[in-house]
Amino acid sequence: MHSVNTPSRHVSAAASAPDSWYHASAIRHFRATRPLAGTRQADVVIIGAGFTGISAALDLATHGLQVVVLEANQVGAGASGRNGGLACSGWRHDQAWFEARVGLADARKLWALSEAAKADLLTRINQLGIDADWTPGQIFAAHTPGMMQALDNDAAHMAETYGYVMPQRLDRDQVAEALGTSVYHGGWRDPSAGHVHPLKLLFGLAEAAVTAGAVLHEGSQVLEVGQHGAKRFARTATGKIIADHVLLCGDGYLDGIHKEVEARVLPIGSFMIATEPLERDSPILPQRDSVMDTRFVVNYWRKTADHRLIFGGGEKYTPSWPGDVEAFVKANLVKIYPSLKQVRVSHAWGGALGITPTRLPYLRELEPGLLSASGYSGQGVVLAPYFGRILAACVLKRHSEYDVLARLPVPPFPGGRALRWPMLTAAMSWYALRDKLP
Ligand SMILES: Cc1cc2nc3c(=O)[nH]c(=O)nc-3n(C[C@H](O)[C@H](O)[C@H](O)COP(=O)(O)OP(=O)(O)OC[C@H]3O[C@@H](n4cnc5c(N)ncnc54)[C@H](O)[C@@H]3O)c2cc1C
Repeated sequence: MHSVNTPSRHVSAAASAPDSWYHASAIRHFRATRPLAGTRQADVVIIGAGFTGISAALDLATHGLQVVVLEANQVGAGASGRNGGLACSGWRHDQAWFEARVGLADARKLWALSEAAKADLLTRINQLGIDADWTPGQIFAAHTPGMMQALDNDAAHMAETYGYVMPQRLDRDQVAEALGTSVYHGGWRDPSAGHVHPLKLLFGLAEAAVTAGAVLHEGSQVLEVGQHGAKRFARTATGKIIADHVLLCGDGYLDGIHKEVEARVLPIGSFMIATEPLERDSPILPQRDSVMDTRFVVNYWRKTADHRLIFGGGEKYTPSWPGDVEAFVKANLVKIYPSLKQVRVSHAWGGALGITPTRLPYLRELEPGLLSASGYSGQGVVLAPYFGRILAACVLKRHSEYDVLARLPVPPFPGGRALRWPMLTAAMSWYALRDKLP
């Protein structure tokens, strides 16, 4: 088994390239330039080379702007190269939640945005010819009868109010057959959601961005952003970019750069394993659907093209990582698939993802020319590339969904920056405890 590579074992530490199955199975066809050296001018400087930053860079470079991306580590060293690959519909909340908080009109706009983001991901994959292992089909599995009722209610509401019809309700037997386990009480299958190899996707977008003219500096951690006359700057230990716009795209890895973002977006650790390939006739996920269950600390999994199980389960709300990631995650896997107790795990890794107190992304123009998008709260495979496009549209002064997103309620974490960790740990541990109740 390859061990997880976390030098500082702190979820908010700058990303190091993880020893994930993704990094072992994706090839990059683009070159980055060396770490930034000296002072240069550009139209836009982007901090972070994950889905958000690379997607913004691609659009901006395609429109002829001089774009520099500064990445502390490597492309894909952050969550975009470590995640479960689940490309989900919607948001972390159901639409009824939005209706109660932002009203039906904005709730409709937000649903339309999430659908546009999902469609846009597939369009881009096809147009750019990215081999991202896209596989359609996602099952929501209910871990209690009450949650099955909640899924049924949600499906009825979505059909009635949004015209979104999920055709396949799975009863207890059907979900058992689809998943290869009898621990769930039923579920719904969403054929328009699915899963991807996230690092292949990111490398494909990065290749297109570099081809379009974006300049990418890896090994270039930004230490400070600030004002330079009428312009802005981003400074690393060895250089500085002066630009009209700075885009903060560091999500859970951005640390100490902007206090407004830091007060609202907190990194939590999420952990994954990849097994050795299962038997071709294994009853587990015969259709290769992706799955997420209804637990607050969600379990999510899928089968790769070469029949490995990629499984994520368990989160950490403290700055430290589990000592043994494989054991931490496998304990959850075995609760669902006891037959996999002896399965060999080829890779185990973890990563930081940005969450906000309301589990809504935080997209804002913080100051003129300084924009930020982060805090996708576990839904970034679909949302982050699209939010990168929205950032680019803001820079290009084109129409986008900025206004409805800027209206989303994303307050600072209670307790301010100093107390946000202990408060989060207490709150999340309480919700995690509720998962264990019948
Ligand atoms: C284990 C795990 C599983 C997940 N599973 C799913 C899933 O199945 N489905 C889903 O939708 N979402 C999932 N997510 C969330 C999703 O991966 C993220 O929401 C998304 O990748 C965020 O993309 P991003 O580009 O904003 O940030 P990232 O991909 O994290 O990229 C940020 C980059 O910024 C760089 N950076 C930070 N600070 C600086 C600095 N000061 N200077 C220079 N560079 C800097 C970092 O090195 C990093 O490369 C998961 C996340 C994790 C960690």
